[in-house]
Parts: sequence; C-alpha cells; structure tokens
Amino acid sequence: MTSPRVRDDLVGQHAYGAPQLDVPVRLNVNENPFAPSAALVETIAREVSNVARELNRYPDRDAVALRTALADYVTEESGGSVSVDNIWAANGSNEVMHHLLAAYGGPGRTLVTFVPTYSMYEEYCRETFTQFKTVPRDETFAVTIEAIDQAIALNPDIVVVCSPNNPTGTVLEPEVLNHLVSQFSGLIIVDEAYGEFRAPGTPSAVATYGGHSHVVVTRTMSKAFSCAGLRLGYAIAHPDVVAACKLVRLPYHLSAVSQAVARAALEHSQELLSQVDLLREERDQLAQWLLEHNYSVAPSGANFLLFGKFSDRHQIWQGLLDHGVLIRETGPEGWLRVSIGTPQENEIFRTALISVDK
Ligand SMILES: *Cc1c(COP(=O)(O)O)cnc(C)c1O
Repeated sequence: MTSPRVRDDLVGQHAYGAPQLDVPVRLNVNENPFAPSAALVETIAREVSNVARELNRYPDRDAVALRTALADYVTEESGGSVSVDNIWAANGSNEVMHHLLAAYGGPGRTLVTFVPTYSMYEEYCRETFTQFKTVPRDETFAVTIEAIDQAIALNPDIVVVCSPNNPTGTVLEPEVLNHLVSQFSGLIIVDEAYGEFRAPGTPSAVATYGGHSHVVVTRTMSKAFSCAGLRLGYAIAHPDVVAACKLVRLPYHLSAVSQAVARAALEHSQELLSQVDLLREERDQLAQWLLEHNYSVAPSGANFLLFGKFSDRHQIWQGLLDHGVLIRETGPEGWLRVSIGTPQENEIFRTALISVDK
C-alpha cells in the first residue's frame, strides 16, 4: 500500500529546526547558558510532586494560578500594570502565536512583518492559511516610519514586529511603535521574546500598551528566564484577545506539570533574572571585541549578536563547529548569529574565530 497523501501545500516542505548537535559550546539557539540552581530544582521537584498526586484529573484549563503569577511578574518587570485577565499562556510563545493567528488570521486574511526577522512567522501563517507578506527593514535593520506606512498600505489584518528582533537584535524605536498603534487598527503583535535584555531605561511595549485593545505583546520563559526546556510562553493582551485565544486552543493545552514548573520558576524570578545583567555586559564586550577585529556587528538589545560579513559564511560556521563551537547560520547572506554564553564560552568562541578566520 502507498502512504496516505499529505496536504498539497506541505509537499516538499522541510521541518523547522536548528541542528541539535552535541558539542561543548552551544551558542546557536539563544538559550540562557546558566542552568537552574539547586534551590530552584528543589522547588520544582516539590511542586511537581504535589500535582503528581492529582494527575488522574485534567489540569486547570484556564491556568488561573499561573496566569496570576505571570501578571505579577510582568507588572514588576515592565512597570506596566496587568492582571490575570490580560494574560494568555501556552506551550512556548510559538504556541501563543499560533493561537493568535488561528483566531485573527486564517483564509482571506493577511499578516505583514518586517524582514529580516524570525523565520517562524511564515510557518504560523502556513499552518493557519494566513497570507504572509513582508516589508524590508532599512540597511541598519531598523523598522522606519516609512516601512510602517508601507506595511499598512498592504491592508493587513495583523502586523507583527519583533523587538528586539531575531536575528538582528534591533530594538524598535518607541515613536515607530506609536505611529503603528495610532495609524493601524488591526491586530498588532510585538514579539518581545528577548524583552528582558533591553537596555535599562528602554520601555517595554507592555509599559506603554499592555492590555491595549489592539496591541498584544508576546513573551517567553525560554530566553532570559532560563527555562527553554519548560516550553512556556505568554501574551499580554486585552481580555477580548484572551477570550479569542480560548476559542482556538486545544482542550487542556497546558499540562498540570508545565503549570506547576512555571509557577515554581516564577517564585525564583529574581534569581533567574540575576544573570541577565551579566549576559548584557558580555554581549556589549563581545560586540566591542568584534568591532575591534574589523567585523560588522548589528547593535543588539538581545542575548545574541549578528556579525559579519563573510564571503563564505558556511565555511566559518563549519570551522567553528570543528573547534566545538556551534553558532547559527541565519540572517541575511554573509552574516552569522552567535548567542551570548558564559564568560568562558564567549572566550572559547573568540579564540576559535581568530583561528578559523585568519
Ligand atoms: C525564541 C523565540 C521565540 C519563542 O520561543 P518559545 O520557546 O516558543 O517561547 C519567539 N520569538 C522569537 C523572535 C524568538 O527568537
């Protein structure tokens, strides 16, 4: 018998994914290099064993305790004011985006974003049958007021802006966001997966527009929060948007175990975020070092740097890998992206780069 025929639009497509290679220095997917402390591991074990006693029951469908803890955390971190009704949570901000597009995209609807940016947006569109359109960023990778006007002229239903932007690190200027919010009445999604790494004094979109009727800010526990393995992302949004997400999520989408682990991690948020300052300093030092060694570096508000330019970037990527350092071959032609690791890992990267790119 032949295999069943897959959906026509999936024929020939490739599954998303950076290579998961077992090498000593992994600087390829913007994880936090610091593992959870023994104290946090203990809290997680306690919380998980509590829910284990009730695993015969379905979890709290609306994850109220977790969403309340997230609201408190976001209020403190961003200086905005959000409550449980403004929070939606799911398995990674990837799933949050999927819910948003399932509810606000779909056949006959269009999403616009600014490239180069996160490659998954196109994939969420494919999965939800939403038309995907792009507007270029300028030569510094910034989104300009003109680019916003171009995006609006495409008559989209959804505009997505990633800030700090992956893979360039570029931070959106507040007046550009203000322009978008005042000129566009469809759904605006600001992807702040790297929000906690923004420079001190730079406002988060949560502070300005958290809970606003047509602005959604998405965030994650995968990056600054050091919990990529947990798969927990969330959105800060108007209660109507939260209600729409509830319509499209799968039943009991967030397991009792995920909810428990996330609550445990939020109890330790101070400790988890204590490394963010160090990573920011390491980022700025590495950027300086790259500039001194005559590389171009995109100014970054995230925990990674886009640097170049190479006539053969694959050769540099492979050379680094041969030295046990895995970075990411992504972004515009000629550029490479490196995540900020521990001080030791960053030093190994520098040494390897000098020896590979003589
Ligand atoms: C890493 C990342 C995410 C999401 O991650 P999850 O692990 O699914 O929460 C979202 N947006 C951008 C731009 C990212 O780089």
